[in-house]
Amino acid sequence: MRPSEQQQTHRLFVRALQHEAISCEHAGCPGPVETVDQSQTRDRVKTFDLRCERCGWHTSLTGQEQLTPPWDNAALELMADEHLMHQQPVCPFDETPVVFISMPNPRRKAKYRVACFYCGRHIVMDWPPPESKR
Ligand SMILES: [Zn+2]
Ligand SMILES: [Zn+2]
Repeated sequence: MRPSEQQQTHRLFVRALQHEAISCEHAGCPGPVETVDQSQTRDRVKTFDLRCERCGWHTSLTGQEQLTPPWDNAALELMADEHLMHQQPVCPFDETPVVFISMPNPRRKAKYRVACFYCGRHIVMDWPPPESKR
């Protein structure tokens, strides 16, 4: 895949991930394009199927799994800060919005799973993060 194509795929992937409307790639076709999340719950990298209901244009989008190097503490703190500020944190490696999922916890301590569904990096962090100065 050429870098420009990869960029285009990533742009569509982020729109699909955020449930934004996607326009048909056929010039002049008004769509609508239906987006279906094909991923299983345990998939680290998501796959979306796009299909234009009008002209039948069809494509599928998959993230590019890349697990190393892992997120470092600085990256995690930044993402946690943005989450606290109700902003949308993004993965520092591919700028995909990351997801914070709160987890059931046996000892009443807050835990979050942070996941990037494009590169598949994920981590479980205690909340607030131990590195946090607050
Ligand atoms: Zn179309
Ligand atoms: Zn990522």
